[in-house]
Amino acid sequence: SYVKDRKQFGTPIAGFQSVQFKLADMLTQTITARQMIYLAASKVDNNDPQAATYCAMAKRLATDLSFEVANEALQLHGGYGYLNEYPLERHVRDLRVHQILEGTNEIMRVIVSRQMLQDDALSSLR
Ligand SMILES: Cc1cc2nc3c(=O)[nH]c(=O)nc-3n(C[C@H](O)[C@H](O)[C@H](O)COP(=O)(O)OP(=O)(O)OC[C@H]3O[C@@H](n4cnc5c(N)ncnc54)[C@H](O)[C@@H]3O)c2cc1C
Repeated sequence: SYVKDRKQFGTPIAGFQSVQFKLADMLTQTITARQMIYLAASKVDNNDPQAATYCAMAKRLATDLSFEVANEALQLHGGYGYLNEYPLERHVRDLRVHQILEGTNEIMRVIVSRQMLQDDALSSLR
């Protein structure tokens, strides 16, 4: 709603193709993260032996992508995005910590790659 409202150079910034491309990527990343979380959740529900590996993939992907999306949203708000009058800067700070909390994203990669490198494990991860 902000990019449709905010005008620069006599036009809403939503009219710039570079802004439209950002929006398209942000939605794609959000849906990708959500689908990965649903996949990991279904592995947990079904007591899949690889559930922990899928959860590590989902945690890493969703926290990285959600941080990127919030950071892009802040950028689209320009200077207002950085000010605490708008919620964007808080979303970016709050999301940043999830790349660290509950096991850092490097440790999530350790979990995934360790499983990948085990004999016969790859076929059950596809
Ligand atoms: C706001 C906040 C709230 C928290 N709440 C809780 C809580 O309620 N309960 C709780 O138990 N903990 C809590 N924590 C702690 C949090 O879980 C840890 O900060 C987190 O697990 C990372 O551990 P660390 O800080 O010791 O980092 P370190 O383990 O010292 O990591 C430092 C860096 O080294 C990297 N690294 C470490 N080991 C490896 C490795 N083997 N391979 C590759 N890279 C590696 C890490 O990825 C990271 O980049 C909280 C932290 C914060 C910031």
